[in-house]
Formats: sequence, C-alpha cells, structure tokens
Amino acid sequence: MDDALAVEHLRALIRIPTVSRADESQVDAEVFARFRAELARLYPRVHALGPELVAGGSLLFRWPGRDPQAGEPAVLMAHYDVVPADVVPADDGPASVGWTHPPFAAELVGDGAEQRIWGRGAIDDKGMLCAILEAVDDALAAGVRPARDIYLSLGHNEETQGAGAAAIVDLLESRGVRAGLVIDEGGAIVEGLLPGVVGPIAMIGLSEKGVAGVELIVEKRGGHAATPAPDGATTVLARVILRLEAHPSRVSLPEPSIAMLQAVSARASGARGWLYRHARALRRPLARAMARSGPEQAAVVRTTRAVTRLSGSAGDNVLAERATAMVNVRIAAGSTVEQAVADIRAVVGDQVRVRLVYGSDPPPVSRREGPAWDALTRTIADVFPDTIPSPFIMIQASDARYFSRISDTVYRFLPFDLTAGEREALHAIDESIRVSTYLRGIRFFRRLIDEL
Ligand SMILES: [Zn+2]
Repeated sequence: MDDALAVEHLRALIRIPTVSRADESQVDAEVFARFRAELARLYPRVHALGPELVAGGSLLFRWPGRDPQAGEPAVLMAHYDVVPADVVPADDGPASVGWTHPPFAAELVGDGAEQRIWGRGAIDDKGMLCAILEAVDDALAAGVRPARDIYLSLGHNEETQGAGAAAIVDLLESRGVRAGLVIDEGGAIVEGLLPGVVGPIAMIGLSEKGVAGVELIVEKRGGHAATPAPDGATTVLARVILRLEAHPSRVSLPEPSIAMLQAVSARASGARGWLYRHARALRRPLARAMARSGPEQAAVVRTTRAVTRLSGSAGDNVLAERATAMVNVRIAAGSTVEQAVADIRAVVGDQVRVRLVYGSDPPPVSRREGPAWDALTRTIADVFPDTIPSPFIMIQASDARYFSRISDTVYRFLPFDLTAGEREALHAIDESIRVSTYLRGIRFFRRLIDEL
C-alpha cells in the first residue's frame, strides 16, 4: 500500500467542492459529475467493478464474492457530499473568524504524528470514503477475492437527508438482497467522552434517533396592527412554545446506553466504575442525571423538540391571521413518531392545530452478538489495540437508517481516532484529519475485508 498516494487521493477529492444544499436547485450537478469522474480516474480497479448510478448521483458497486455459501453480503457505506464550508457556529465565538487553511485547498500541513490534511470533508465523509476505496483497491491489486459479496454504497445527498441511500436500499431490496453486515459513518474512537473513563473507546452506533417535523398552527381574526386585541395568533403561539419548553418529554435510559455504560465500566475505577457497572439497576436516576448534564447528554435520554422556524403576518402593520411554528423533533429509541405527536398535543392543548409534516420512527436496534458483530470487534481489536468496543445510540440521523430494511446488523462506526477538537470541527470550521488517523482507517477496512 502506498501511503503517500492514498494521501494524494484524499486531497484530490477534497478539492472538488461537492456541497449539498437543502434547496437542490442550488446544487452544482457538474461538480458532482466531476467528482465521480475523478473517482474513476483515481481508482481504476474499483471502477472496473462497474458501478451503477442511482438517483442521479449515488453509486452502488458490487464486488462479487467467491463462495455463494459464505453468507449474506456486506455493505460498506460512505457519502461524498459535504456541508457548506461557510457555516458560522451559532454562538458567534472565535470560530467565526474563518478557516485556518482554506476549506477546499486540501493543504497538507505539519509533519510526524501531527501532519494533517485540512478541508471540508476530510473526515465527514470523504476520509471514510477514501479509506474504504483504498482498502478495496489494495485488495483487488493483491488478487484478493472476498468470500461473500461486498457492496460499496456511496451516497450523494446524505447531508440534506436526500433520497440517494434510500434508492439504493430500494434497488437492493428489489433484487432480494439481505445484508449480513452494514458499516456506515457514526461513532469514532474517542477518549474522555464519559467522566472517569480512561483509554480509547470504539463507539459503535446500534441505532439512531427518529426524526419528525411537526407544525403548530394558530388561526385568528386578523386586522390592522393599530388596533390589536389580546390573545392574537402570535401571542397564543408564543405562549404555546414556552409551554413546550417547560414540559419536555420524559426521560429514560435506552438499552444500548445501559450496555454502553456497562462496557466502559471496565475502564472506570472507584465510584464511577461502580455506578456504570450498575447502570441497569440505576437507570432512572442515571437518566435524570444525564438530562441535567448538558444538551448532548440530555438528547440521549429523551425525545427532544426544537422550534426552528416561525411565521406570522406578511406585513409590519398587519395582524397575523395565521401564525406557525415548525418543531424539529428527534425521537428517542423505543418511542415512535405517533407518541411524540401525541405528547406535543397533550402539552399545547386545543388552541393550536398540530400537523405532522414528516416523520420516521427510530430504526430497530442492531444485534450486539453474532458473526457480523464479532467480525467488526475482532477487526477493531487488531487495528486499534487497547481500544474497547462500546455500543451507543446516535443522536444524529444518517443514511444507515434505511438499511435496517434489509439488515439487522447495521453498525455506525467511523474507524478514526478523533480528538474532541476534531469532532467539534465537523460541520463547523477547520475540519482536518491527521494523516496517521486516515492511514489507520485504511488498514481497518483492509483488515475487515479479510473477515468477509
Ligand atoms: Zn457524514
């Protein structure tokens, strides 16, 4: 394997700004086509597998296995769209001063263990995409043929919850394909995530939260803003929003979180170790404590609601006849869209109309035993010694959720060791990956192929 060449490949792909926009008419299709052409040029052996273009931009490769009895195929996933590089974090801190190195220049900076590739997508998710392709390319060059079929699923609109990955699952399902193992981006190899836990933990996402958009609508008689009556549409709506915030949904510690605490308890000593080991018996007090210890922990233990968009009247001097609020709801594992909407109705009362605009339930929790889990954790143990695997539930939505339709072993795992600072740069400014981290990610996939 040529490490320097692998680095150049990732740099070349970061330089092509495949930026996703929620408004698809703003997406530059020519840039995406250029990216696919570059992929074919950089990885001719992988390209010779003959990828199918799905939903106008996603790519599906099939690498045929040698043994039809070897078991259900594996799917390695990544996406090649990126979020815009001009995002400014909401709380206007020093981060808003801009990128240290330009986001699409893919500069290689520093040396030794600190040498980095800078740019949007360096980790999320072109880093993962290149790690997969380098490993497959290396295996193809060596004449390796996996026992079972391996599919590569490269999405083109993950960042905007687009239809690429869902269309690939439709296609596989229509061909009767069930997957014995699916790996997509997700948890990384991290340290210091939980208080009292020492050493690296490989965070393997077994599921993710569901998502729903719920609109709150208040309709009242309008009129001139010079003669307002009490309890206008905007006032009622504002009151309801405050009531929602004052009545958050109930907390509970989901099963994979209990398993996570038990897994990491081996690395925590004293009172904390004891607490984590007894997570099952202590699930209620633990859930309540997590709900109080910051937004990230709170999101693990409950369905969250965020009011993201408001609308009132069209003119400064016009009373609103209709005021609306969009609530972005993230549904906890074990709950449903239906339950989340019912809870909102119960809080807001009958002065408000509640309309479900879109929604998908949390996908099922993947199995934490069996050959796929064993292959994954064995590979982690080999490539990242001293790292212990731990399940968890991902807070963000990902393309992986669609694959639950054809697999009960969908794992959200990014085989990169990332610092807290590197994780914070995702979707923000100064995204970068250490070269050593990237190269180890390649070795992870190369080693995993031998398990398949
Ligand atoms: Zn991503």
